[in-house]
Amino acid sequence: MASPVRDPASEQLNDYKRNFKGEAPVLLTANGVPVAEKKASLTVGSRGPMLLQDVVYLDEMSHFTRERIPERMVHAKAAGAFGYFEVTHDISKYCKAKIFSSIGKRTPIAIRLSTVAGENGSADTVRDPRGFAVKFYTEEGIWDLVGNNTPIFFIKDSLLFSSLVHTQKRNPVTHLKDADMFWDFLSLRRESTHQVMFLFGDRGIPDGYRHMNGYGSHTFKLVNSKNEAVYCKFYFKTDQGIKNLLPEKANELCASDPDYSIRDLYNAIAKKQFPSWTLYIQIMTMDQAKTFRWNPFDLTKVWPHKEYPPIPVGKLVLDRNPENYFADVEQMAFNPAHMVPGIEPSPDKVLQDRLFAYGDTQRHRLGPNHLQLPVNCPYKAISSAMHYQRDGNMSIYNHGGAPNYYPNSFFGPRECPDVRSPPFHVSGDVDRYNSEDEDDFGQATTFWNKVLNEPAKERLAQNLVGSLRNASTFIVERAVQNFVRVDVDLAQRLTKGLHKCGIQINVLGKSANL
Ligand code: NDP
Repeated sequence: MASPVRDPASEQLNDYKRNFKGEAPVLLTANGVPVAEKKASLTVGSRGPMLLQDVVYLDEMSHFTRERIPERMVHAKAAGAFGYFEVTHDISKYCKAKIFSSIGKRTPIAIRLSTVAGENGSADTVRDPRGFAVKFYTEEGIWDLVGNNTPIFFIKDSLLFSSLVHTQKRNPVTHLKDADMFWDFLSLRRESTHQVMFLFGDRGIPDGYRHMNGYGSHTFKLVNSKNEAVYCKFYFKTDQGIKNLLPEKANELCASDPDYSIRDLYNAIAKKQFPSWTLYIQIMTMDQAKTFRWNPFDLTKVWPHKEYPPIPVGKLVLDRNPENYFADVEQMAFNPAHMVPGIEPSPDKVLQDRLFAYGDTQRHRLGPNHLQLPVNCPYKAISSAMHYQRDGNMSIYNHGGAPNYYPNSFFGPRECPDVRSPPFHVSGDVDRYNSEDEDDFGQATTFWNKVLNEPAKERLAQNLVGSLRNASTFIVERAVQNFVRVDVDLAQRLTKGLHKCGIQINVLGKSANL
């Protein structure tokens, strides 16, 4: 019988064999000594016991028990790939970063596309935001644009971040996902409403990673060669077109192919159907930022396209699969603090937090020298000694004989005043400012009324009902009280759907039988 047609991912080992030249190499221990026997441990007699001098066994098992490194708290399950970014439009009047210096210029990139809340082995086709993290290997160092498939986020003050993540993950007692935790937090933080509506809308379950947009999400600052600054948002629009999965299909895939998105990306690249995205920026001047009707650094809001029209910049193309998942994808370490001259942070509070938190988690996960790993190394920027950091766990490049202090008289790396950032003024009273007084529903209302068509509205309401119904009634009431502030029509659809599930709540979020 003819064997079924197998996709490139299934054929990986056969491909390795087909491409192998010569004979299989001799098996070695990690210290490079030939191994005579790999199928039987060293024992006293055929029934044992084993001997501590079985160095082949010890070499193997002691490494095996250390194969896993700490799992990322978020974005643990991912696909990765490599490719390039090519400039198609000149934005040098806004930004001096060399990556944008001329039309046609190509910069190598790596990408990591992920779900957020699930563990490393979780299913790909769940309702969850998706990570969209791009690493640009520029001649001025690494630029990491570490975003999601949504232009906004659940919160705008990072002090809430760990609580948000706890509520999206497992209850520490039951080790189960918990609808009360999930909806309690989200309904108590009404600024999450906009993102919750994206999450429960059609784009909450993209059809793999190729058919979704990516957004830098935060506001950034761009600086040009005259040291003039503007604020900016980055986003990648998929050239494959948006495609989503309906919940029934997504649930079916969770069971039949939990690695659906990883497989889809791997196979597309292996078949040379290279996925691509178009990079756009939105620009807001410093003066516009002062009078914008919302806080331009509020991560729960977008900048409307009509007022801040998208400006095309270039193409992101993925044309190479990882050679080894662990080395290339698991060890890939992103950090929003990795910016190049011409790209700077804005005061966005969540971005400010991430400038610290990402480096911190990578040092915990991979160690202080993770930037020396090939996938993370700024290889386009270095020619000899780079800096004065030395030693630490797993140092593989220790800068040769260069001095390890500064200033010095021995040709150690020198400063580069040309890349100095323009100064900027900050003032204000130090306090803990409650961001809830701002308009938390206006853009959600626009989304409901202007972006969604009738079937999309109905699917969003049904998806919300399907999740809300699992929470305690007092929490559902509070959630409906938020959604009625988006639009009465949405609240009516929710109460109707909840009614069918036996939950009697009126459109004002009050239990109808009270
Ligand atoms: P536009 O009409 O110019 O843009 C609407 C945006 O909505 C498009 O970017 C579109 O993405 C996106 N969109 C369509 N369906 C969905 C969905 N189910 N989930 C998430 N996004 C979707 O509008 P404005 O710029 O004036 O913004 C109006 C509202 O659109 C905003 O309040 C916000 O809720 C939403 N939005 C705005 C974005 C922005 O950056 N301005 C980005 C995403 C959403 P695409 O272009 O890929 O079709």
